[in-house]
Amino acid sequence: AKGAGGNVIRFFDPEMQRVVREEVSLDADLRTAVDRGEFEFHLQPQINRFGTVVGAEVLLRWPHPVRGLVSPGVFIPIAEKSGLIVPLGNWVLDCAAKVLSNWAAKELFSDINLSINVSANQLHSEDFVETVLGAIERHGARPRRLKLEITESLLVNNLDDAIRKMTALQQHEILFSLDDFGTGYSSLSYLKQLPLDQLKIDRSFVSDLPQNKNDAAIAEMIVALGRTLGLHVIAEGVETEEQKGFLEGIGCDQFQGYLFGVPMPLDQFEEFVSALGS
Ligand code: C2E
Ligand code: CA
Ligand code: CA
Ligand code: CA
Repeated sequence: AKGAGGNVIRFFDPEMQRVVREEVSLDADLRTAVDRGEFEFHLQPQINRFGTVVGAEVLLRWPHPVRGLVSPGVFIPIAEKSGLIVPLGNWVLDCAAKVLSNWAAKELFSDINLSINVSANQLHSEDFVETVLGAIERHGARPRRLKLEITESLLVNNLDDAIRKMTALQQHEILFSLDDFGTGYSSLSYLKQLPLDQLKIDRSFVSDLPQNKNDAAIAEMIVALGRTLGLHVIAEGVETEEQKGFLEGIGCDQFQGYLFGVPMPLDQFEEFVSALGS
């Protein structure tokens, strides 16, 4: 019989205990780091079909004093559980708005959007709309340059709240991208209810292109869907020329991945864009 007593046994599992203890200590370190503002962000270029940099995704980095650079894949889930993701997300938002207004002041990169990742806790927090608009106003950034990446999983619990807040922000010209598209609880019905600008093809559908026929069909379907709904489509995790060629062939209009550039600090990103002459 599967399952019977499974949880009880696992409760005493020393490996589980180690994992729990590890999480607790990381959580405490995370709290301290948020208080002290010890985070960094990297920017990963997003390229259009002409090779022009049209955007960048802002990706959090945590230089931990002992553990070295901790991956967001590790600390974001912990920050989500404890609610720390809200102040952390606000910090990212503030950084993005600051970068956009600095570029505008220097008359630099006026066509480059910044995409930031938004967690469920953040979107569903009471003052999310005011927080986003506040950051933009505080720095005098152009709202149309800011794109919020949301995931499908964030919509399942409270779709109405998500639609309400996204619509309010869209009225202020904030853009939205549906991240990791196709990996969540895909329901096509919400696609037409959400004020989206972009669909983002998940890396899991890109990495085995063009050989994997299923992934090829899914990628094609997403691009066609995007076109029908009037949305831009970007592919993430593009690592090879073959992947790029296939995606171009099916009409994908933007690309992000190691083939073009890894996530990098702001100054390097600025050099990267300048060197491309875009
Ligand atoms: P994501 O939103 O799907 O971000 C894309 C991830 O893919 C990033 O990992 C990026 O470095 C990585 N990546 C980009 N191009 C390639 C490629 O060509 N090949 C491969 N193998 N990977 C590529 P990263 O930076 O480790 O971030 C992991 C996740 O952490 C993100 O996944 C996102 O869900 C979350 N995250 C990062 N920053 C933030 C943030 O500020 N707020 C929130 N809520 N989540 C964040
Ligand atoms: Ca993302
Ligand atoms: Ca993604
Ligand atoms: Ca992904």
